[in-house]
Amino acid sequence: MEESLTRIHKAVQQATMRARGQSIKKRRKRNHSKPSAKWIAPARVGRDQGTALAVVLSTIGCAHARSDSGGCTMCSYLLDGSQSMPSSEQLVEQFKNAMDSLEGKKAPLSVKIYTSGSFLDPDEIPEVARSEILKIIGADERVREVVLESRPEYVQDFVLSEVRSTLGDRIIEIGMGLESTSDTIRTVCINKSFNLETFKECLETAKGHNIGMRAYVLLKPPLLTERDSLLDAIATIRDAQAMGVTTVSLNPVNVQNDTLVEKLWNRRKYRPPWLWSVVDVLREASEMSDGWMRIVCDPVAGGRRRGAHNCGKCDSEIVQVIRDFSLNQDPVILGKPSCGCLQQWEHALKHEDSSQLIHR
Ligand code: SF4
Ligand SMILES: [Zn+2]
Repeated sequence: MEESLTRIHKAVQQATMRARGQSIKKRRKRNHSKPSAKWIAPARVGRDQGTALAVVLSTIGCAHARSDSGGCTMCSYLLDGSQSMPSSEQLVEQFKNAMDSLEGKKAPLSVKIYTSGSFLDPDEIPEVARSEILKIIGADERVREVVLESRPEYVQDFVLSEVRSTLGDRIIEIGMGLESTSDTIRTVCINKSFNLETFKECLETAKGHNIGMRAYVLLKPPLLTERDSLLDAIATIRDAQAMGVTTVSLNPVNVQNDTLVEKLWNRRKYRPPWLWSVVDVLREASEMSDGWMRIVCDPVAGGRRRGAHNCGKCDSEIVQVIRDFSLNQDPVILGKPSCGCLQQWEHALKHEDSSQLIHR
């Protein structure tokens, strides 16, 4: 990376650390036998509609966020984790507790496992707990799809081999925060700490086991204008499709506690993306898609001040449009919703200061 970008990255890293401050030490004591969160919702499962369980296992949290590299500029998931490490038995108990929510639900089911970090990191989920959790899924015939979230450094051939053999012929995806295919944006604006080459290697390793890749694409990292972030998200989705990613999950930034994004937002130097930008990216993405790659989006805090939002009047309608599109994959749903604030958004695209640091 050029010297000036390296310097900016260092400053971003230090500001991220400062924003996190002492918050890690103040993490709540948690019941190690219960997950941090679990929820079920209607979802697209393969080509059909079904039910998805998402569970956030309570672990010690993301190694990147715990390290001196400071974690990502928009993420405070670490704060959902626990100060001390649950035992393998407790982690399995957490998972069983989440699976109970699927009682009485009919196939097809999808199970998504998050950990506020990486499910495949043995420091978060010891191998014995991982194997037991995979076996529980493998024994449930209703489950047709499994998503396991991980950073790339834990995606290894022998691990995916175990995942594939335990889960049989189910649809499997590794969920990974690619965020952007621009190494500059991913490094300087997000402080992600891996490069595109590493992501591609993981993708190829996964393909070798017939395991897909669910790439999270970030909309509006800090230090980018609305327009530049919109263009970067579209370019990233195009690249993701070319690389053979199976699902793109578009994640509009929401303002989380004790992050660099929150510090900027408090000083009025950051606005979460407009919902119009989300719709625009989804529209462009579905136009370029060959129909094989899924494109989903569930804007966290959508319509609220801390999430992607418009003017307040049209927000709930647009959030619903985005959710319906994710469920049905039908671009007609994105249609041409309208509101007076559309012009404000167009104005922001044209006139927001374009000298803010990063261009592709
Ligand atoms: S976004 Fe993912 S990799 Fe980055 S700090 Fe959060 S959990 Fe860790
Ligand atoms: Zn509006």
